Amino acid sequence: METTQTLTNEMQQVLQTLKVDSLNPAYSTGLHSGSATEGGATKEIHSPVDGALIGSVKMADEAIYEKVVEQAQKGFMVWRKMPAPQRGEIIRQIGLKLREYKEPLGKLVTYEMGKIYQEGLGEVQEMIDICDLAVGHSRQLYGFTMHSERPNHRMYDQYHPMGIVGVISAFNFPVAVWAWNAMIAAVCGNVVIWKPSEKTPLTGIACQNIVAEVLKENDLPEGIFNLVIGDAEIGSLMSHDRRIPLVSATGSTRMGKKVGEAVGARLGKSLLELGGNNAIIITEHADMEMAIRATVFGAVGTCGQRCTSTRRLIIHESRYEEVKERLLKIYPSLSIGNPLDGKTLVGPMIDHEAVANFKKALQNVQQEGGKLLVGGEVLEGESYASGNYVKPAIVEAEPQYEMVQEETFAPILYLLKYQGEVEEAISIQNNVKQGLSSAIFTQNLLEAETFLSYQGSDCGIANVNIGTSGAEIGGAFGGEKDTGGGRESGSDAWKFYMRRQTNTINYSTELPLAQGIEFNI
Ligand code: NAD
Repeated sequence: METTQTLTNEMQQVLQTLKVDSLNPAYSTGLHSGSATEGGATKEIHSPVDGALIGSVKMADEAIYEKVVEQAQKGFMVWRKMPAPQRGEIIRQIGLKLREYKEPLGKLVTYEMGKIYQEGLGEVQEMIDICDLAVGHSRQLYGFTMHSERPNHRMYDQYHPMGIVGVISAFNFPVAVWAWNAMIAAVCGNVVIWKPSEKTPLTGIACQNIVAEVLKENDLPEGIFNLVIGDAEIGSLMSHDRRIPLVSATGSTRMGKKVGEAVGARLGKSLLELGGNNAIIITEHADMEMAIRATVFGAVGTCGQRCTSTRRLIIHESRYEEVKERLLKIYPSLSIGNPLDGKTLVGPMIDHEAVANFKKALQNVQQEGGKLLVGGEVLEGESYASGNYVKPAIVEAEPQYEMVQEETFAPILYLLKYQGEVEEAISIQNNVKQGLSSAIFTQNLLEAETFLSYQGSDCGIANVNIGTSGAEIGGAFGGEKDTGGGRESGSDAWKFYMRRQTNTINYSTELPLAQGIEFNI
C-alpha cells in the first residue's frame, strides 16, 4: 500500500488553479452535466512522489461511455463545418492557454506521474509546440491535382474529416501524447474522445478544463474534445466501436495487439505507438563526452519510463572499458528524490508494480548470466516513503538474453560489446522485436551514413550524435515492428487523421470512359 500523506499547500494550489475537482464525477467523465450517482467505481489517485492521496475519480461505465460518444457525435456536426483556418484559430488559443497554465500543469504532471519538473514543463512545451504545428497545418491540408487522360476533365484529391478519433494514452506521457493526437485530429476537423491512463487521470481532467475554457470563450460545444476516464475495458469499448473510425493507442505492445486486432476486425484504422527497446551505438570514433551525456539522460531520464529510453548500449570493444568506467563514476552521484526539487535528476517510478517489475527483471537477467554493475536497490527512508524510488541499474549482458530482448519499463541499462565494423553493431541493434528509437555516436561519416542507410537502423527514429530520447515536434514520431508502425506529431502524419477522396470533374459535353473503353447504348 502507498503511504498516504496530506497534500502540500503547493499541490492544493496547483489543483485549484487547474480546477481539478476530481471528486466531481462530472469532471471525471468529461460530461459537465453528469451527476454524482452516475459512473462506475471510484478510484483513488496517489502521487508516486510522496504517496499522498491527490484525488479520487469516478471511472466511466458503459452508460457514461455512451453519453460521451453521443456528445462527441453532436460536437462533430458543428466542428466539421468550421473552415480549417478557423479551427486553427481555436487551436492557437488553446496553445496560448497552455502557455498560461504551463507551470501548474507541468507541476501536476510531475506530481501525478513522477517525472522531474523540468521534464514536466518539457511535456507541456510539447503540447504548445504541437498546437503551433497544427495552426500551420490549418492552412496546408493539401491534396494533389492530377492531369486526367480524358479531355476537359480535372482530377484532384482532397482530405475530409473522419469523425471521432479515439485516443488511448499511456501513463508516462500523460498529457503530451493526447495533444499530439488531439490537436492534429482537431485541425483536420475531427472530434476526439480521450481515454487517459487510469494511472494519471487528473492531468487529463486539467487538460479538459483548459480546453473547455477556450471552447466556452468561442461559444463552441463541449463535444469537440471529450474525456472518458476508465480502464482497459473502456479502451476495449472504443476499439470495438464502429462510430470511432480511427483509434490512436499509445502503450505496451500487449495492449496494441489487442487494440489493433479489434479495430482491424471492423476494418477501422488504428495508429499504434507501442513499446521500444532502444539502443545507442558507441563506435570507436565516438565523441565520448557527448555519448556519455546522451546515454545517461536516455537511460535514467523519466526514471527509464520513456518509450524512447535507452535500454541497450552497444559499445565497440576498443571503447568498452572507458564507457563502463565513466558510467560507473556518474551513476552513484545521480541525485534521486523528489522530482519537484530542482536538483533532482531521477524521480520515482510510477507505482509499486513498476518497482516489482524492475527488481524481477534484474533478478532474471542475473540468472541468465548478466552482471549487475551498479544500482538496482529500492531506496528507503523518509524521503522515499512512497516506496517508488530505485537506483538506476547498469548490467553487463549479452544481446540474446531474454531480458535484453524485452522492454522492461524501468531504468536498466544493458552494456553490450561488439567487435569489428559498425555493421556488427547495427545487426545487434536490429535484432530485437521492437523498432522505435536508435542512435549512433560517431565522428566517422561512413559509419553514420551506413547507420542511416537501407542497411542501417530498422527503427522509426534513427539519430546521429543525439540520444534515443527527446524527439521534437515536427518530425513524424513512431516505430516499426512491435512498436506498431504508427506515425504522429509531425511531417505529413496529419493525412492519417483524414479520409482521402479522389474527385474527377468532367467539364466537357461528352462522356468518355477511362482506358478508352467504348460503351455505346
Ligand atoms: P499500457 O499498455 O498498460 O496502457 C496504455 C493505455 O492502454 C492505458 O490507457 C490503458 O488503460 C489502455 N489499455 C490497456 N489494455 C487495453 C486494451 N486491451 N484495450 C484498450 N485499451 C487498453 O501501457 P503503460 O504502462 O501505460 O505505458 C507504458 C508503455 O507504453 C510502454 O510499453 C511504452 O514503451 C509505451 N509507450 C509508447 C509510446 C510510443 O510513442 N511508442 C509512448 C509512450 C509510451
